[in-house]
Amino acid sequence: MKKVKVIKIDVDKCNGCRACELVCSAFHASPKYSSNNPERSRIRLINEPLKDIYLPVYAGEYTKAECTGRDKYVIDGKEYDECDFCRASCPSRTLFKEPDSDLPLKCDVCESDPPLSEPMCVQWCLSDALTYEEREEEVEEEEKLEEMEIGLESMANKYGLEKIIDTVARMSKKS
Ligand code: SF4
Ligand code: SF4
Repeated sequence: MKKVKVIKIDVDKCNGCRACELVCSAFHASPKYSSNNPERSRIRLINEPLKDIYLPVYAGEYTKAECTGRDKYVIDGKEYDECDFCRASCPSRTLFKEPDSDLPLKCDVCESDPPLSEPMCVQWCLSDALTYEEREEEVEEEEKLEEMEIGLESMANKYGLEKIIDTVARMSKKS
């Protein structure tokens, strides 16, 4: 069994305050809270006030190729681009890339020691657009290892193993 952490988004409750971006980037700064920069946040707001669009999106997997999906979707009278809903760190946009190293960012649901009661962005979202849930799911051990290997291999192909090792070493030295 594996504990699955889920953050649910209620787009209708989001008011575009961007507190989630600020606290995520501050929590992941080295040292913690020493700076905040939404470009380093693992949650980004698709923000189009003139269209009344406020859509928080979590950073998901890295992908080395962009897809061909460029459709438009109308939901509740609001027109969204297909990319707006995508969580991938992909070559066709700047979202979810660490600005200094260009390495992909991914939400870690605020892994922390001691563990947090709730992820930081959920705690700071005062309008309850973000809510947190934990549930148990059965997962094969081999499946988990395979996912990690695929992720590391594609990152190494794009950035080179040396750059990844350097960045990890730099980050652990700072923390
Ligand atoms: S903190 Fe909540 S309300 Fe504010 S932008 Fe983020 S999701 Fe939206
Ligand atoms: S759960 Fe944590 S790591 Fe993920 S976006 Fe929210 S604050 Fe950032």
